[in-house]
Amino acid sequence: MPDTSNDAHTPAAGAPSDSLLRLIADSVPALMAYYDLPSLHCRFANQGYAAYNGHSTESILGLTVREAIGEKAWQAIEPHVERCKQGERVKYVREQTLPSGEARMIEVNLIPHVMPPAQLVGAFVLITDITERWRAENAVRQSEERMRKFAAATDEAIVFHRNGLIIDGNEALQRLTGYTLPEVLGLSIFSFITPEWRPVALEYTRSGREDPYEVTITHKDGRTIPVEAVGKTMPMHHADYRIVVLHDITVRKQAQEREAFIALHDPLTQLPNRRHLMEQLDRVLSLAQRQRGRAAVLFVDLDHFKTVNDSLGHHAGDQLLCDVAARIKQCVREADMVARLGGDEFVVVLADIHGPDDAAHVADKLLEAMHGAFTLDNQPVTMSPSIGISLFPDDGSTGDVLLRCADAAMYHAKENGRGNRQFFQPGMDGRAMEVLQQERQLRAAITSHAFVLHYQPQMSLRDGSLQGFEALVRWNHPERGLVGPDEFIGFAESRGLIAPIGRWVLHEACRQLKAWQDEGLAQVPMAVNLSALEFRQRDLVGEIAAVLRSTGLPPRFLEIELTESVLMHQTGPVLDTLNAIQALGVGVSVDDFGTGYSSLAYLKRYPIDKLKIDRSFVMDTPGDADDVAIVTAIIQMGHSLQLKTVAEGVETAAQMELLRQLGCDLVQGFLISVPMDAQDTRRWLTRPE
Ligand code: C2E
Ligand code: MG
Ligand code: MG
Repeated sequence: MPDTSNDAHTPAAGAPSDSLLRLIADSVPALMAYYDLPSLHCRFANQGYAAYNGHSTESILGLTVREAIGEKAWQAIEPHVERCKQGERVKYVREQTLPSGEARMIEVNLIPHVMPPAQLVGAFVLITDITERWRAENAVRQSEERMRKFAAATDEAIVFHRNGLIIDGNEALQRLTGYTLPEVLGLSIFSFITPEWRPVALEYTRSGREDPYEVTITHKDGRTIPVEAVGKTMPMHHADYRIVVLHDITVRKQAQEREAFIALHDPLTQLPNRRHLMEQLDRVLSLAQRQRGRAAVLFVDLDHFKTVNDSLGHHAGDQLLCDVAARIKQCVREADMVARLGGDEFVVVLADIHGPDDAAHVADKLLEAMHGAFTLDNQPVTMSPSIGISLFPDDGSTGDVLLRCADAAMYHAKENGRGNRQFFQPGMDGRAMEVLQQERQLRAAITSHAFVLHYQPQMSLRDGSLQGFEALVRWNHPERGLVGPDEFIGFAESRGLIAPIGRWVLHEACRQLKAWQDEGLAQVPMAVNLSALEFRQRDLVGEIAAVLRSTGLPPRFLEIELTESVLMHQTGPVLDTLNAIQALGVGVSVDDFGTGYSSLAYLKRYPIDKLKIDRSFVMDTPGDADDVAIVTAIIQMGHSLQLKTVAEGVETAAQMELLRQLGCDLVQGFLISVPMDAQDTRRWLTRPE
């Protein structure tokens, strides 16, 4: 024995000693044993193996497998042992429950030991505990299983790829692309992406980026679909294995495009708006500059559009603008641009012209195209435009300047009798300055109350008695003296200045009448004109009530004059306001009656007291038979609706006589008196009979 142990410490050169082998065997993490065959007696076991089975390295020696590992384990492994006994190398995995109750997963290798030439003398048993690996793999399997279930359940298209090659995909992917799964397996994910987006997708894939990005893919049927893609590197896998979720963003894209379109287009006509026009104009001009070409800007403004809008209502006005837009577009080439600046203002940009003649030609075509009547609410309406033309580079080099020049030229077209075209001439743009100047002066006038009222009496045709006054405003202009309302009411409306003027008029008219009445004069109503705009914008009822209160004028002495146009749209709110005015006890007259495209239906609907027959019908009576017929009809209709009729602009005794015969109630006009200032009116009221 000493010899043997001595031997172990002095091994032959190159061969490890027994004790070194033991040391090695006990140090490896695997369990090892050696059994003789065919007896299956244990010949060697490392510490791990022996302890695993509840033995020491010594006590296990000589035991059979069955004895060493116990009956239950033997039952489980016997078939494997049998195969090994046949000389087969066997490998299997099985679960083993430790005495502590913990379940471990082990991998067992049974390796037959064959002595040359072919004698089976034993078997090595090599057992590794693979519990950790098994758990990890299990976790991946479960997470992949979960992923698959999730992928199947979601509406998002999901594709798995390795190095860009598709290895799996869900139902939604098939819906999104139109391809079945077998059709796409093995294909490159980039083949679905439209060429211009491939570099982006490639970059995201290569760098493993996990934030969302947008690309466009091609469906099997050829259409392209915008998608949002999010790529994620799969857990427990190398970065080349990625899952990509694709979300169809067609709806979002369309909404974005719609938004972008809305920002640049006029919602009514769908034409480019001012912003879009200016952007495009800059583009056109820089191109023209580079190519030494020429361009033209046509400023198109409709003549008397406001009349149509006021008399036929906004709906018809809108329709007319759309029809006009369509006609303008028919007159220009594809490369030219038609925009709407707002209101009845259109701009045409001719991108590439040879000279002024080309611009003149297009402008003439536009005038011609507008010539035919438009049909609005089954009525033919005629319309003409006034067109101003500016040329690049002759009149200016920027869009702003060219537009201003074309605008100024358009004003000249209006002054030239409307319905014509004018080229810009130096000096024309003084007009814009004039407008600014006038606006400044009007604002100053409002602040300093530089207005006066003139009063025109209304007389009864039956007995010649005074029946009322109409208050007519004048602007006491610092340079021009008294300026009539036709020259500034429309302007004030367009500049948003009508409300303060209207308020002053209402208050002053009531105050003056009350002052006269306090003197025992003019126990008759005072009529005050209101423009359509004021009627829509102001809190009239509240203001009227407040003015009556502050001046102390009894409501029955106030009358409001409205034009037909007020009554023709917004029936609901108008009716409410008129009812409220009537409830206050204030009268309502329809001014300039007969000039609007009126239907008679509304006359019945509204609380109206008087119709004022427009001066244009009275003017040519009694000579003009048509006008006599019209005046007759209005008076009769007024009476049948129990409305009083007032004839405006009565200048001759013959007119008055006719009106008397026709049964008109009241007359107003130069024949009775011109409108007079307050002093003259008072004198007129107190004149000796
Ligand atoms: P309207 O309400 O129809 O007023 C009658 C216009 O006819 C007045 O012109 C008056 O001077 C004129 N007129 C009266 N009798 C005769 C006549 O026999 N022959 C002729 N040729 N003309 C006559 P005016 O004062 O220049 O007012 C013009 C329009 O301005 C008014 O027409 C009215 O619509 C508007 N207006 C006047 N004052 C105001 C106001 O305070 N507010 C608003 N919103 N509009 C006003
Ligand atoms: Mg009036
Ligand atoms: Mg009138």
